[in-house]
Amino acid sequence: MALNWFKKKKNKAEEKTRPDQKTGEVSQSFEFDDVQAETPENKTDIKHEEFESETPIPPDSIDEEVDRGASEKPTGFFKRLKNGLSKTRKLLTTDINDLFAGKRKIDDELLDELEEILITSDIGVQTATDLIRGISLKSSEISGPDQLKKVLREKILELLNAAMKPAQAIVNKPHVIMVIGVNGTGKTTTIGKLAARFSASGKKVIIAAADTFRAAAIEQLGIWADRAGVEIIKHREMSDPAAVAYDSIEAAVARDADIVLVDTAGRLHTKKNLMEELKKIKRTISNKLAGAPHEVLLILDATTGQNALSQASLFNDALDVTGIALTKLDGTAKGGIVVSICKTLEIPLKYIGVGEKIEDLQEFDPIQFVAALF
Ligand code: GDP
Ligand code: MG
Repeated sequence: MALNWFKKKKNKAEEKTRPDQKTGEVSQSFEFDDVQAETPENKTDIKHEEFESETPIPPDSIDEEVDRGASEKPTGFFKRLKNGLSKTRKLLTTDINDLFAGKRKIDDELLDELEEILITSDIGVQTATDLIRGISLKSSEISGPDQLKKVLREKILELLNAAMKPAQAIVNKPHVIMVIGVNGTGKTTTIGKLAARFSASGKKVIIAAADTFRAAAIEQLGIWADRAGVEIIKHREMSDPAAVAYDSIEAAVARDADIVLVDTAGRLHTKKNLMEELKKIKRTISNKLAGAPHEVLLILDATTGQNALSQASLFNDALDVTGIALTKLDGTAKGGIVVSICKTLEIPLKYIGVGEKIEDLQEFDPIQFVAALF
């Protein structure tokens, strides 16, 4: 191999921790070859069954999609995604173009700079190092920014696909989704968006206002229920959240509803009590309906970066999270956190939020994601 990048890397291996990365990286060591071996061809075809996907992009047309440019007026699914990821894309693509200023070949300096860019996008230190290794092995084939972006796209897609799990079809009626997460991450908003999507696909939805700590939280959920045109079960402020969840299941069974979305509180300063409270809600739900909740959806805020990974461990330990929704990707240049989440957590990333509007929640699709990024 012509490049010394790896030897140099080995020497300064342990020192590589940035202030914003210290808490987060939980990744294990990783080989590209392993991923290639373990990734079945058909993983890119995974589709969620709950909703119709809007104009999916076949793998071989990623490059054309990418070339179409980011400045078009956002109307469709992919344009909304692209628009939502514009801050991260700007960081990645502009800086990668700059890397090649006055150069035609990849050298150690370029690889170091690229590693910095990837880490800045919150992709995680270990993942950035692994990606750079993959690129250094292909360096003789890369002579400009477009080729580099293409290789990065392929490598990141491999990582994301390796973490995807086939979506489970909804078989229970009612299908109960308990939504949890720290305050302000976007639980209520995501419930509103999900309610609208389920409702649009012909499902009867009931929302449970089990965040009873503030009257405003119940009101906010009511507004989302109106927007989505679905029913809400609510009690008074400060009432027992588990009782609200219980009533919502009873109502769903009585009214033959398909989906129950349970909103919950997420105050951090009472973290221990919060977990106990959430466990109690979960127990109450399963006592009322065997097998429920069928999903425990954790909402993470992309703008909190690697901190989101620590939150995921805490919530997962207490509540066995089945899926993640990552919100506010539109508000950050650190969209690389998606790769960190997929690679370091063993919980599938199901949805991403790319804006505040009701249509700004998308099923996470690795192909669309990388196509929107580079
Ligand atoms: P909760 O405390 O977890 O219920 O969080 P909320 O649903 O109340 O959301 C907190 C704030 O985040 C609100 O202002 C939402 O509009 C905003 N928000 C939620 N999801 C997104 C998203 O995907 N993008 C953006 N830009 N804002 C979001
Ligand atoms: Mg809320």
